[in-house]
Amino acid sequence: MQRQYLVAGNWKMNGSLETNRSLITGIASQRTHCANVEVLVCPPAVYLAQVRELIDGHPINLGGQNVADQDKTGAFTGETHAAMLREMGCTYVIVGHSERRALYGETDAVVAAKFGVAQVAGLVPVLCLGETLEERDRDQTETVLARQLGAVLDRVGVGAFARAVIAYEPVWAIGTGRTASAGQAQAAHAFIRGLLAARDAKIAGSVRILYGGSVKPDNAAELFSSQDVDGGLIGGASLKSGDFMAICAAAQAQ
Ligand code: PEP
Repeated sequence: MQRQYLVAGNWKMNGSLETNRSLITGIASQRTHCANVEVLVCPPAVYLAQVRELIDGHPINLGGQNVADQDKTGAFTGETHAAMLREMGCTYVIVGHSERRALYGETDAVVAAKFGVAQVAGLVPVLCLGETLEERDRDQTETVLARQLGAVLDRVGVGAFARAVIAYEPVWAIGTGRTASAGQAQAAHAFIRGLLAARDAKIAGSVRILYGGSVKPDNAAELFSSQDVDGGLIGGASLKSGDFMAICAAAQAQ
């Protein structure tokens, strides 16, 4: 099954009107070098309107970094409903990023609810899964991945993964400069795909599984060369257009 590479930039809580403009200008100007790769940027929510205008006419997708777990709008101060993200031009939304899980107490159940609400609104969820260093050292990587994915599968069913992306992000590799080896990434990706295949082989073969965790221009090609790695979720390196587009070019060259 041929899966189109997807390279997604998670800007986290970074950016300003000025830097967003130069970042998108840089990405757009180099976009033709990676025409076969799908490109996604996920700015902070307050900048969605600005970035939507900046990407207008360019093959760059817009995504949210987070979404409310509520299916109805209303009295949820500080939250953003999935339909609002959709209205602002988002086609994707990140759910279950490890920073949301660790710093904001998002449980597997909350992440599963967000996934479901996002899909109902027409967004493609980018579901982040990943183990901590302690869990890896205790040989619990597969247990954690199965638990995190299982919570979503139990809530929405495997059919929902026909319109979803998964990002394997080992927590110990995020923002640390320490990357999983291509072998470690491939093993985790194959395990995740296998969990889906046990329920539906066709959907398992079509779902894109991104790797995230200190992807840089100099390690992207090796990571992306693995059979079950379909692109990357990029944090730090997505804030420099040259680095981000070099990573996109590495995907294009596969
Ligand atoms: C991320 O936040 O999803 C991420 C992978 O960050 P970094 O690339 O900076 O490790």
